[in-house]
Amino acid sequence: MVIETSGLSKSFRGFTAVDRVDLAVEEGHVHALVGPNGAGKTTLFNLLTGFLKPTAGRVSMAGHDITGSPPERIARLGVARSFQITNLFEHLTLQQHVELALLGTTKLGHRFWVSDRVLTKFHDRAGELLDEVGLAKLRDVPAGTLAYGQKRALELALALALDPKVLLLDEPTAGMGLEDVERTVELVKRVRTGRTVVLVEHNMSVVAGLADRVTVLQFGRILVEGTYDEVRNDSRVIEAYLGG
Ligand code: ADP
Repeated sequence: MVIETSGLSKSFRGFTAVDRVDLAVEEGHVHALVGPNGAGKTTLFNLLTGFLKPTAGRVSMAGHDITGSPPERIARLGVARSFQITNLFEHLTLQQHVELALLGTTKLGHRFWVSDRVLTKFHDRAGELLDEVGLAKLRDVPAGTLAYGQKRALELALALALDPKVLLLDEPTAGMGLEDVERTVELVKRVRTGRTVVLVEHNMSVVAGLADRVTVLQFGRILVEGTYDEVRNDSRVIEAYLGG
């Protein structure tokens, strides 16, 4: 298992948002976390990436116990995440964004001077990554001018710059129109090769199209787990959604 949690819990001033969760994510899988609003998906996601520290329980990532580790240490283990909120520099071009992300992955980021050879390598790699997410034509425009779906694609390129083994996507299709949703599904299908992907996703057609495994959360607990077909026909899941 690439990700394993045992008894993972998080309480906020007495309110338990994630309650004794035992999650196991298999290497190479796309694993979706779903559930009604307030089920604890985002909190669980933040526990996996070190943005929150658990109240109880353990998290292991690629065989390392990362319980309570800061996000930087988890990132160094080959884990990259995307955010629900776009977090870009309006005036920097797409190319500059990706080159900076690549520079940040090396020790060179701490130096004042970087050789031309290395800069050329970053330049070329940034071009490849932008091509991978379908933004090659826009490489020289400022990020502030992008449409919403394009900003999300750029963020994916920034996560891929880390060449992660594990990619965690927080609602990758949130707020998108049908066309961008379809484009994102195709994109995730392409970039999942050789990686494990965990995604929080509300759109069930996206889950159906991508996920090998689905964990349904309710009231901070795992309600049901299985393939998409197994969970969507489960009466407990239907009830949780209708009741939620
Ligand atoms: P989901 O992502 O499934 O919608 P969340 O993980 O965002 O659910 O939230 C689960 C529950 O925990 C909600 O009831 C939410 O109000 C609560 N919660 C989340 N973060 C905090 C926080 N920082 N402080 C207090 N309560 C929180």
